[in-house]
Amino acid sequence: MGLHGWLSHTQVAEPFAEGYFSNPAGLKIPLAITFAFTGDDMSKMTPYSLQCPYCGHTQETMVWASLNVTQDPELKARLYAAEINRFDCEQCQKQTFINAPLLYHDMTMQFCVQYYPPEALDDEDFHRHFNADGSVAMTGLPASFATSGEYLTKPHIVFDMSEMIRYVAFRDHVAEANRK
Ligand SMILES: [Zn+2]
Repeated sequence: MGLHGWLSHTQVAEPFAEGYFSNPAGLKIPLAITFAFTGDDMSKMTPYSLQCPYCGHTQETMVWASLNVTQDPELKARLYAAEINRFDCEQCQKQTFINAPLLYHDMTMQFCVQYYPPEALDDEDFHRHFNADGSVAMTGLPASFATSGEYLTKPHIVFDMSEMIRYVAFRDHVAEANRK
Protein backbone atom coordinates (compact mmCIF):
# COMPACT_ATOMS: atom_id res chain seq x y z
CA MET A 1 0.00 0.00 0.00
CA GLY A 2 1.31 3.43 -0.95
CA LEU A 3 1.36 6.59 1.06
CA HIS A 4 -1.93 7.73 -0.43
CA GLY A 5 -3.76 4.81 1.13
CA TRP A 6 -2.54 5.79 4.55
CA LEU A 7 -3.37 9.44 4.03
CA SER A 8 -6.91 8.72 2.88
CA HIS A 9 -7.46 6.55 5.90
CA THR A 10 -6.16 9.26 8.19
CA GLN A 11 -8.78 11.55 6.70
CA VAL A 12 -11.52 9.10 7.65
CA ALA A 13 -10.46 9.44 11.26
CA GLU A 14 -10.36 13.24 11.21
CA PRO A 15 -13.42 13.85 13.41
CA PHE A 16 -11.54 12.03 16.14
CA ALA A 17 -8.47 14.21 15.80
CA GLU A 18 -10.59 17.29 16.44
CA GLY A 19 -10.96 16.31 20.05
CA TYR A 20 -14.53 15.10 19.99
CA PHE A 21 -13.64 12.14 22.15
CA SER A 22 -11.65 14.25 24.59
CA ASN A 23 -14.47 16.73 25.07
CA PRO A 24 -13.95 17.95 28.65
CA ALA A 25 -17.72 18.05 29.08
CA GLY A 26 -17.86 14.36 28.16
CA LEU A 27 -20.46 12.45 30.14
CA LYS A 28 -18.97 9.96 32.52
CA ILE A 29 -20.43 6.55 33.30
CA PRO A 30 -19.25 4.83 36.51
CA LEU A 31 -16.58 2.32 35.57
CA ALA A 32 -17.87 -0.32 37.96
CA ILE A 33 -21.25 -0.39 36.22
CA THR A 34 -19.97 -0.68 32.72
CA PHE A 35 -16.96 -2.91 33.06
CA ALA A 36 -17.40 -4.14 29.55
CA PHE A 37 -15.38 -7.30 29.55
CA THR A 38 -18.13 -9.81 30.21
CA GLY A 39 -16.95 -12.39 27.68
CA ASP A 40 -20.20 -11.98 25.81
CA ASP A 41 -19.79 -12.17 22.04
CA MET A 42 -22.76 -9.97 21.29
CA SER A 43 -22.89 -6.26 20.68
CA LYS A 44 -24.28 -4.76 23.82
CA MET A 45 -25.93 -1.51 24.82
CA THR A 46 -27.74 -0.33 27.91
CA PRO A 47 -30.15 2.60 28.31
CA TYR A 48 -29.01 5.30 30.73
CA SER A 49 -30.76 8.42 31.89
CA LEU A 50 -28.15 11.10 31.21
CA GLN A 51 -28.09 14.84 31.67
CA CYS A 52 -26.84 17.21 28.98
CA PRO A 53 -23.78 19.08 30.33
CA TYR A 54 -24.76 22.16 28.29
CA CYS A 55 -28.43 22.73 29.10
CA GLY A 56 -29.23 20.25 31.88
CA HIS A 57 -31.88 18.39 29.89
CA THR A 58 -32.20 14.73 30.94
CA GLN A 59 -33.03 12.03 28.44
CA GLU A 60 -32.60 8.31 28.00
CA THR A 61 -29.63 7.41 25.85
CA MET A 62 -28.24 4.08 24.72
CA VAL A 63 -24.68 3.48 25.88
CA TRP A 64 -22.71 0.89 23.96
CA ALA A 65 -20.42 -1.44 25.93
CA SER A 66 -19.50 -3.81 23.11
CA LEU A 67 -19.44 -3.69 19.31
CA ASN A 68 -19.29 -7.02 17.48
CA VAL A 69 -18.47 -5.79 13.97
CA THR A 70 -18.66 -9.31 12.51
CA GLN A 71 -22.29 -9.73 13.54
CA ASP A 72 -23.16 -6.05 13.17
CA PRO A 73 -20.88 -4.54 10.49
CA GLU A 74 -22.85 -1.28 10.44
CA LEU A 75 -21.53 -0.54 13.93
CA LYS A 76 -18.03 -0.13 12.52
CA ALA A 77 -19.26 2.61 10.17
CA ARG A 78 -21.08 4.24 13.06
CA LEU A 79 -17.92 4.15 15.15
CA TYR A 80 -15.98 5.83 12.34
CA ALA A 81 -18.72 8.44 12.05
CA ALA A 82 -18.41 9.19 15.80
CA GLU A 83 -21.99 8.05 16.36
CA ILE A 84 -21.22 5.47 19.03
CA ASN A 85 -21.65 6.66 22.62
CA ARG A 86 -22.71 10.11 21.56
CA PHE A 87 -25.32 12.00 23.53
CA ASP A 88 -27.47 14.00 21.08
CA CYS A 89 -29.41 16.48 23.19
CA GLU A 90 -33.04 16.72 22.09
CA GLN A 91 -33.34 20.17 23.68
CA CYS A 92 -30.21 22.15 22.72
CA GLN A 93 -29.04 19.83 19.89
CA LYS A 94 -25.48 19.75 21.22
CA GLN A 95 -23.49 16.54 21.05
CA THR A 96 -21.45 15.11 23.90
CA PHE A 97 -19.18 12.11 23.97
CA ILE A 98 -20.26 9.54 26.58
CA ASN A 99 -17.04 8.49 28.23
CA ALA A 100 -17.77 4.80 28.83
CA PRO A 101 -15.69 1.64 28.39
CA LEU A 102 -16.14 0.15 24.92
CA LEU A 103 -15.08 -3.17 23.42
CA TYR A 104 -14.50 -3.48 19.68
CA HIS A 105 -14.65 -7.12 18.62
CA ASP A 106 -13.83 -8.55 15.19
CA MET A 107 -14.51 -12.31 15.19
CA THR A 108 -13.29 -12.84 11.62
CA MET A 109 -9.92 -11.22 12.15
CA GLN A 110 -9.80 -12.51 15.73
CA PHE A 111 -8.85 -9.37 17.57
CA CYS A 112 -10.47 -7.00 19.96
CA VAL A 113 -9.74 -3.53 21.22
CA GLN A 114 -10.90 -2.34 24.61
CA TYR A 115 -11.23 1.37 25.40
CA TYR A 116 -11.20 2.53 29.00
CA PRO A 117 -11.54 6.12 30.12
CA PRO A 118 -8.07 7.28 31.24
CA GLU A 119 -9.48 7.89 34.74
CA ALA A 120 -9.46 4.08 35.10
CA LEU A 121 -5.71 4.30 35.66
CA ASP A 122 -6.36 5.98 39.01
CA ASP A 123 -8.88 3.32 40.07
CA GLU A 124 -7.45 0.47 42.17
CA ASP A 125 -10.43 -1.79 41.51
CA PHE A 126 -9.85 -1.43 37.80
CA HIS A 127 -6.39 -2.99 37.96
CA ARG A 128 -7.71 -6.06 39.74
CA HIS A 129 -9.46 -7.11 36.53
CA PHE A 130 -6.09 -7.93 34.93
CA ASN A 131 -3.29 -10.44 35.33
CA ALA A 132 0.32 -9.36 35.76
CA ASP A 133 0.95 -9.90 32.02
CA GLY A 134 -1.83 -7.46 31.14
CA SER A 135 -4.33 -10.14 30.06
CA VAL A 136 -7.88 -10.10 31.40
CA ALA A 137 -8.35 -12.00 34.67
CA MET A 138 -10.83 -14.83 34.09
CA THR A 139 -12.28 -14.67 37.60
CA GLY A 140 -15.99 -14.04 37.47
CA LEU A 141 -16.30 -14.54 33.73
CA PRO A 142 -18.87 -17.05 32.42
CA ALA A 143 -17.68 -20.62 31.75
CA SER A 144 -18.57 -20.27 28.07
CA PHE A 145 -15.96 -17.56 27.77
CA ALA A 146 -13.02 -19.95 27.37
CA THR A 147 -14.42 -21.41 24.17
CA SER A 148 -14.90 -18.00 22.59
CA GLY A 149 -11.26 -17.68 21.61
CA GLU A 150 -8.10 -16.98 23.51
CA TYR A 151 -7.61 -13.64 21.78
CA LEU A 152 -10.57 -12.34 23.78
CA THR A 153 -8.49 -12.49 26.95
CA LYS A 154 -5.81 -10.34 25.33
CA PRO A 155 -7.56 -7.26 24.02
CA HIS A 156 -5.49 -4.40 22.71
CA ILE A 157 -6.18 -1.91 25.48
CA VAL A 158 -6.39 1.80 24.75
CA PHE A 159 -7.24 4.83 26.86
CA ASP A 160 -8.07 7.05 23.94
CA MET A 161 -10.94 6.54 21.47
CA SER A 162 -8.94 7.98 18.57
CA GLU A 163 -6.33 5.34 19.28
CA MET A 164 -9.02 2.65 19.03
CA ILE A 165 -9.87 3.86 15.51
CA ARG A 166 -6.21 4.02 14.54
CA TYR A 167 -5.58 0.50 15.81
CA VAL A 168 -8.59 -0.88 13.89
CA ALA A 169 -7.32 0.90 10.76
CA PHE A 170 -3.87 -0.56 11.36
CA ARG A 171 -5.25 -4.12 11.59
CA ASP A 172 -7.41 -3.64 8.50
CA HIS A 173 -4.41 -2.39 6.52
CA VAL A 174 -2.18 -5.22 7.71
CA ALA A 175 -4.85 -7.78 6.73
CA GLU A 176 -5.22 -6.18 3.31
CA ALA A 177 -1.44 -6.10 2.76
CA ASN A 178 -1.15 -9.79 3.65
CA ARG A 179 -3.91 -10.83 1.25
CA LYS A 180 -1.91 -9.47 -1.70
ZN1 LIG B 1 -28.69 20.11 25.92
